Amino acid sequence: MDTPATRPVEFDLPASPTAASHCASTVGQAWARVPEPLPAARKAELIKRIRALLARERATLVAHYYVDADLQELAEATGGCVGDSLEMARFGRDHPAGTLVVAGVRFMGETAKILSPSKRILMPDLQATCSLDLGCPADAFAAWCDAHPDRTVVVYANTSAAVKARADWVVTSSIALDVVADLHARGERILWAPDRHLGSYVQRQTGADMLLWQGACIVHDEFKGTELELLRAEYPGAKVLAHPESPQPVLAQADVVGSTTQLIDAARKLDAAQFIVATDQGILHKMRAQAPGKDFIAAPTAGNSATCKSCAHCPWMAMNELAGLAHVLQHGANEITLDAELGRRAKAPIDRMLAFAEQRKRRVRASGDLARDTALFERVGPA
Ligand code: SF4
Repeated sequence: MDTPATRPVEFDLPASPTAASHCASTVGQAWARVPEPLPAARKAELIKRIRALLARERATLVAHYYVDADLQELAEATGGCVGDSLEMARFGRDHPAGTLVVAGVRFMGETAKILSPSKRILMPDLQATCSLDLGCPADAFAAWCDAHPDRTVVVYANTSAAVKARADWVVTSSIALDVVADLHARGERILWAPDRHLGSYVQRQTGADMLLWQGACIVHDEFKGTELELLRAEYPGAKVLAHPESPQPVLAQADVVGSTTQLIDAARKLDAAQFIVATDQGILHKMRAQAPGKDFIAAPTAGNSATCKSCAHCPWMAMNELAGLAHVLQHGANEITLDAELGRRAKAPIDRMLAFAEQRKRRVRASGDLARDTALFERVGPA
């Protein structure tokens, strides 16, 4: 059997915690398996087999917006779901299937297990990880928390179960503003991890006292403000949609800043024919399906070299393949396991967020016009 091709991936790895507001960063080294292109006949055969295996195993497929379009379509066609990380976990938790197959990255499988501890959680590739998760090791993070015992710990969903277990709150990108604004109003000071751009965005919007862990998403960190200005000049009528993991110079030019679900909704609802999209390009499949006839243009990255870091597609999301999916269903491989006590502790800050979301009518703040954006997103769920 051939050894699968891999590519090296560098990511920001904040150094040991300090009492300062910013941690120094080093460069971490990881790898990602390179997916193999499939001939059409092989693809069709795998899709047919996966459908049969899902039925045989009474399993449900939940997929993230960033994975391959074939997997997204399979999830929807077989009664599963395509969504952001929390929608995936909540769908899996509420679905009667005893087996969930999570097509995404490792922390998503873990979150599904945290919320559904009695279910079998399988993943096409357990090595599919995330630079935010890798860049926030649990022991270093715990030491940072210990150095700031007076602060409320808020972590983004893109973290390991061990990091979540150390947090007071877990938040997704769509509810982070509301949670932090509420904590700020109550006079709480915050430790935020791991994404520095999302944390900085939340800090600017809320005025909260926040110390930021200095992690970054390797995909969003590559979007560049100057190049975006040039692209906007080329497409003067285009609206800019940006995920808040993007750097500030990009967010400053965005018409809408939001989570993946919110950006898809904006693409559908906003009165524009063209959109420049600053998030993983896997999302374009769903945007085109939801907003047919509109034109979506990828936001510019660091260069034209199409390196792993500049192609605006997550190399770990790309590891989710049809062949891997068929394999885990056939053999029950790649099951996520989690220490029960760790899962219980990690669940508490997620439940806190879910309860918070249910208690209040959600408001989504994009760049500039709150009234318009509140109306725009009034039916978006709390994920
Ligand atoms: S796109 Fe970024 S945040 Fe999402 S899984 Fe990949 S590295 Fe992590």
